[in-house]
Amino acid sequence: MRIVSLSVLCCLFICTLSAQVHKCGVSFLEKSLETQYPGIQELINKTYENALANASITREVYEIPVVIHVLYNTSNQNLSDDIILSQMDVLNEDFRRLNPDKDQTREIFEPVAADAEIEFVLANVDPDGNPTTGITRTETDKESFVELDFASLLAALLECGVDITNPELTDEQLECILESLGGFDLDVMKSSATGGIEPWDTERYLNIWVCNLAVNLTGEDLPFLLGFAYPPLGAPNWPPGTLPEDIAAKDGVVVHYQAFGRNNPFSGPLAGLSDLGRTTTHEVGHYLGLRHIWGDGDCTMDDGLEDTPSAGSNSQPQTADIPSCESLHEKDSCLEDMMPDMIENYMDYSVESCQNMFSVQQVGLMRAMLEGPRSGLLDNAMSDVNDQIFSKFNISPNPFTASLNISLEENAVMEMMNVHGNTVLVESLYAGENKIFKPSLSPGVYLIKLTNDQGLTSISKVIKQ
Ligand SMILES: [Zn+2]
Repeated sequence: MRIVSLSVLCCLFICTLSAQVHKCGVSFLEKSLETQYPGIQELINKTYENALANASITREVYEIPVVIHVLYNTSNQNLSDDIILSQMDVLNEDFRRLNPDKDQTREIFEPVAADAEIEFVLANVDPDGNPTTGITRTETDKESFVELDFASLLAALLECGVDITNPELTDEQLECILESLGGFDLDVMKSSATGGIEPWDTERYLNIWVCNLAVNLTGEDLPFLLGFAYPPLGAPNWPPGTLPEDIAAKDGVVVHYQAFGRNNPFSGPLAGLSDLGRTTTHEVGHYLGLRHIWGDGDCTMDDGLEDTPSAGSNSQPQTADIPSCESLHEKDSCLEDMMPDMIENYMDYSVESCQNMFSVQQVGLMRAMLEGPRSGLLDNAMSDVNDQIFSKFNISPNPFTASLNISLEENAVMEMMNVHGNTVLVESLYAGENKIFKPSLSPGVYLIKLTNDQGLTSISKVIKQ
């Protein structure tokens, strides 16, 4: 009897929690980091202030090499290449202000909406120098990477004084519960010892783990967190063996598989709310140093940026109905600044279909982080020497449907590989030749490796539709 009532309670609690979502676990992560590494919050703040003071004014387009680690326990979680590529498209649209919905930015914010001039590419070369699609796939025993059990949840509820007959949670209670649950490790997906996979060199690659972050206490998966990201750290002199190695083993972005990609067919309860790939845009924003535009507090708290108006709260829908953008546009939580809340901003929690911009100062801050604590990413992109050495060829169209055209100015052996590294086609090509291939391949990502007479190689990625 007692067990039954507990399970009802937990169901209520989780359902309430789920309705409220916690799009993003960044403040939770920062709290848990502070427990592990006292003083780290101050370092995060300092890194932020430093980037604010040195906001970038360069205009060069920066490129970030990305590796996507797909961890799956069910076939739905093993997201297809198509979904992954759709997510890459969303990132490249949102960070270049090429998003099809950019016209939805209200006139009042149009002057501060900015192109971040940051692009994302799936890595061509892995840390060992081998060709790669930039996607790893790992089957795991873990049904979920959020390990919550009845006992700790109940203890947290009691500790935080939640009214168990009516578990409407205040922000303080939610914070208290998350804090009390802080004993569970958020980063289990980042180690093979705990069912995950280790990152690639976190200085040189943006690692994105895509896995199940739902909880299942009642027989049904309910998204618990949609994602979280480590902030940049301008780490000064930490005692050896303490902070940097640990962080290096965890740095990157984690996204719940149902929130990954555009129009992901497995979005489930997130359909219409968080199914346009903007959870990843938001988390990459954090990874590049951005904070929530409401400053995680009331009107006295701020993100430190002048061109994102103050907001007293996030703009997450509070009901099961998905609100229209027009109704969200009415939100003006801090009257002093004479500006409505910028619900269009990717760093708010509003409905994804109403989000469409970063601001000028957000862009300056992210680029300063790329020029500072995250500069290893740019160095890695620059070091793709193969492409520079051997740039005298042309592959088109890409993506291709039936035929693929390759022309080059020197002799080369072409090898085409699938995502498993298996060779599907080998052919010698000659300088000046314009070769048309009609390979019968299933849709997906393929690599084309060209090796010239001097043994120099170049690897390109092509997509068969
Ligand atoms: Zn967030």
